[in-house]
Amino acid sequence: MRALLLDLDDTLLDYSGGVDAHWEAAVAACAPPGLDRMKLLIALAETRRWFWDDPDRHRRERVNMLAAWRHIAEYALERTGVEADGLAEAIAHDFAARRRDAMRLFPDTVESLERLRRRGIPLALVTNGDASQQRDKIERHDLGRFFDVVLIEGEFGVGKPEEIVYRHALRALGAPPEEAWMAGDHLEFDVDAPQRLGLHGVWIDRAGHGLPAGSRVRPHRVVRSLRELVEAPG
Ligand SMILES: [Mg+2]
Repeated sequence: MRALLLDLDDTLLDYSGGVDAHWEAAVAACAPPGLDRMKLLIALAETRRWFWDDPDRHRRERVNMLAAWRHIAEYALERTGVEADGLAEAIAHDFAARRRDAMRLFPDTVESLERLRRRGIPLALVTNGDASQQRDKIERHDLGRFFDVVLIEGEFGVGKPEEIVYRHALRALGAPPEEAWMAGDHLEFDVDAPQRLGLHGVWIDRAGHGLPAGSRVRPHRVVRSLRELVEAPG
């Protein structure tokens, strides 16, 4: 491993932890009396799945997360037949604030990044999504100091799995693809797409569920944590 590209959300930062509870709390905080909260929560869960399952919508919406969360709340309210001015907006804001407060780095993140730095391995942070949200996460958790290059979809204008994203990061690190690795939780964005360019692809499977049935992606390595990769780079 002569250079390493790393994903942010659910790779270095526990992004998805507590999401259901945060929607529940946001609804409890914002819903007017008389609103059937359970019905709305069920509608929200269905809407979120539908909303993010469409790759085109995913790409369009993930660069403005506050708007995406408002759209999700609007669709869910529509599904439940509720009309309430400003309620979707209020729920989205409340949810965003709870998420921001709750997000933490995984326990092995800082230690692993420090070890990689000590070994002199050039590092790139390559993350999809909203420019202001991703920047805020990087600054709040003081991650910038570890990386030679930080590439955020919302700033760069293009996201994973577009080739130019990985090529740009590699150029910035001065590393040829065959000497570089990419590690992350997303099988397509962090493993398959970089492998097509000649990088080593490492899938971080923190939940330990293993590859989904029928997955055609074959990571060079599957690890349960970043620490596992750093301790034995292979
Ligand atoms: Mg991720």
